Amino acid sequence: MVSLRKCIYGGIATAIILASPKCYVKTLKSIATDCAKSSPKIRSQTELIAETQRIREDLKAEKDLEIEIYFYTPDKWKEFLETYNLEEGEFNKRGNGAKKIGNKTHLIKFNKNSSVCSLEHELYHVIDGHTEDQEGRTLIGKKLREWLVYEPQAILYSAYGWRI
Ligand SMILES: [Zn+2]
Repeated sequence: MVSLRKCIYGGIATAIILASPKCYVKTLKSIATDCAKSSPKIRSQTELIAETQRIREDLKAEKDLEIEIYFYTPDKWKEFLETYNLEEGEFNKRGNGAKKIGNKTHLIKFNKNSSVCSLEHELYHVIDGHTEDQEGRTLIGKKLREWLVYEPQAILYSAYGWRI
């Protein structure tokens, strides 16, 4: 179900993207890059667990929402795929990412030394239901929703704490 706020936000984003798609994408990317650069890095599993708990509480995640976070380093690609029975291409090899892998379980691939801002970004996608919502959509439907609604939401939350 699409909420009214998402509809309104999607409308505003569509107007901006039609007026200047280049400016829209550039602005979002630069907000995300600045946020990642200025935010502290997560270097250990302990920091990752503590930050995840803090963000879950901030976003009022449902208690039974299971989120597994794989603390990733480049030498673990094969191990990562095998652990979760994933196909190549289901996750980006280099970046962070989130995906629903079970009925109530979501998986986040989180690169060691990524920023707190990046963790906030991925957790926002999961906790706000973006990974659920994309099930059964066509590829173009997924991409449009991603760029007009989900990415701006996750970027604005991680950069400014806004929940749109
Ligand atoms: Zn994202």
